[in-house]
Amino acid sequence: MQPLSSHARRQNLAHLHKSGDPSRSPFDVLVIGGGVTGAGVALDAAARGYKVALVEKTDFASGASSKSTKLIHGGIRYLPNFDFALVHQGLVERGLLLQNAPFLVEPLAFVLPIYAGDRHPVGMPFTPPRGIGLGQLLDLGLSFYDGFAGRRNVKRHRHLSREQVLKFAPALVTERLKEGFIYYDAQTNDVRLTLALLRTAAQFGATIVNYAEVTSFMKKDGTITGVCVCDRLRNQEVMVCARHIVNATGVFSQQVEALTGATPLVQVEPSKGVHLVFSREDLQLADAALVLPETDDRRLLFVIPWQSRVILGTTDTGADDLDHPTVTHADVAYLLNHLNRYFSTHLTTEHIISTYAGYRPLVKSRTAGAATAKLSRNHTVLQSPSGLVTIVGGKLTTYRRMAQDTVDVLSRRDGYRLVHPTENLPLQGSVGCPKLQQEILSTSRSALGTLDEEIVAHLGRSYGTEAHKVLQLIAEDTSLAKRLVDDLPYVRAEVLYACRYEMAMTPYDVLARRTSITLEDRQRGLGVVDTIAQLMAREHSWTTEQRAELVVAYRAAIEQQMAAETT
Ligand SMILES: Cc1cc2nc3c(=O)[nH]c(=O)nc-3n(C[C@H](O)[C@H](O)[C@H](O)COP(=O)(O)OP(=O)(O)OC[C@H]3O[C@@H](n4cnc5c(N)ncnc54)[C@H](O)[C@@H]3O)c2cc1C
Repeated sequence: MQPLSSHARRQNLAHLHKSGDPSRSPFDVLVIGGGVTGAGVALDAAARGYKVALVEKTDFASGASSKSTKLIHGGIRYLPNFDFALVHQGLVERGLLLQNAPFLVEPLAFVLPIYAGDRHPVGMPFTPPRGIGLGQLLDLGLSFYDGFAGRRNVKRHRHLSREQVLKFAPALVTERLKEGFIYYDAQTNDVRLTLALLRTAAQFGATIVNYAEVTSFMKKDGTITGVCVCDRLRNQEVMVCARHIVNATGVFSQQVEALTGATPLVQVEPSKGVHLVFSREDLQLADAALVLPETDDRRLLFVIPWQSRVILGTTDTGADDLDHPTVTHADVAYLLNHLNRYFSTHLTTEHIISTYAGYRPLVKSRTAGAATAKLSRNHTVLQSPSGLVTIVGGKLTTYRRMAQDTVDVLSRRDGYRLVHPTENLPLQGSVGCPKLQQEILSTSRSALGTLDEEIVAHLGRSYGTEAHKVLQLIAEDTSLAKRLVDDLPYVRAEVLYACRYEMAMTPYDVLARRTSITLEDRQRGLGVVDTIAQLMAREHSWTTEQRAELVVAYRAAIEQQMAAETT
């Protein structure tokens, strides 16, 4: 049985349960949280030979790890704050990801336009003398950016004339546009990256379960020895024992640490970030991303081509219900307002295809009242007196380094020599890329005949060499080559793949996380949820009632989301 199939989930829970039996040996490492950080920790620990378990309270990547701007970057906006170590670390990790997950992480050009009268572009905290030296300052900053990436730099930045800027983004407002720069970073699909990490960790023997929430800790002589996990699908409890327990729960890490009974060492300051999704045609954007250099609150915004669409984001405000980050009318107005300052297309709410919101797990500032936009994106590994290890902060880009620093703590406790296998560890689907991937795709394409180029490219980008499993499903049943949504490249076979290889348990898991239909589809998946539930029903042996309930739950969640956008 595939270790991450939906059928294996029950078996994995039983395996967790056995560790609670005193006659059996406990896990070496239990990771709480199935976002990119937890997935990274599980992989790092398993690759070092530890016996690993991971539990996630809802679906994998359902927190911040599906809500990011999807950039793998050093972050040009941290340069004006002189946060050079953070930028350097991000750029090193960017280089490693381009090497270790080439099908999932790809270079992306960014155009930074400069307008006469700009005072604080890219979040500069100081005001340069009016108009003078701004171009030189940005040039210098971007030279540092290239330099920090060293031999792993994607490509050197260069200056653009006003006309060149407009070639990249013809819909930009031309009044006061002076010049610009082009620089290079990378982008990914945050959820698929997390899933690739989990699949790779499972290959190394990690036992992984979603919809499994840690509700309390077990202790002996003040030291934690295990956790109580609630299987949220069957409402049953399982005791899991482990020598080391890692809390990788992002914005929930303070709450989870509090479950040990001690005052948490972690102090998280969640910060909400919202994105809007548009069609590529509406923004007339080619393949380069655009930086909107200045916002009212001295930040920058990105307009990024992503998959079939364009993403605009993000905001940086306070927190509310951590389990349900919502996009409000005010968030939408803020983003549209700034977009329309720079774009002559004058987009309205009618043009929005979808929206999403998430909370950044920022480590709290010791300075009262500090704006979350200014809080550092550095990560911290904390060890509580009970033995719990908490990893918090950081970025999607730096997940590998965060995981490595965390597992180093465990290795030191065990007196092991420190080794860092993930520096050169290809994620599942990457071995043989791009040559093998091309071979698989072109052989299948000619054998199957039914797949158009857009679908083939999409399968390669989403699964790497793993695409052969999706193609195998199509070879067995050609009706699975049918698109799920007319103008998107997702096919029916991916629903089966999601159940058999990525533990998809509900239609929401498939629509919002195994694929990005919820984001890319104008109907946000409402038109296809029935079909997906039908395909899943066969895999899960659901009754008609169970299937209908899950469809209703998806519809309700999307309708609630859409209602919040207007209030
Ligand atoms: C708007 C926004 C834009 C961003 N853009 C970028 C970007 O472009 N580039 C970049 O590098 N970074 C970006 N980031 C940051 C990045 O997304 C996060 O740092 C990263 O995803 C955090 O991952 P995580 O695993 O630590 O947290 P999460 O993804 O939130 O995962 C934590 C998991 O723990 C689970 N959990 C909680 N409690 C329990 C429990 N009791 N038992 C079991 N499981 C539990 C949760 O369900 C959740 O799935 C952005 C973040 C946001 C919000």
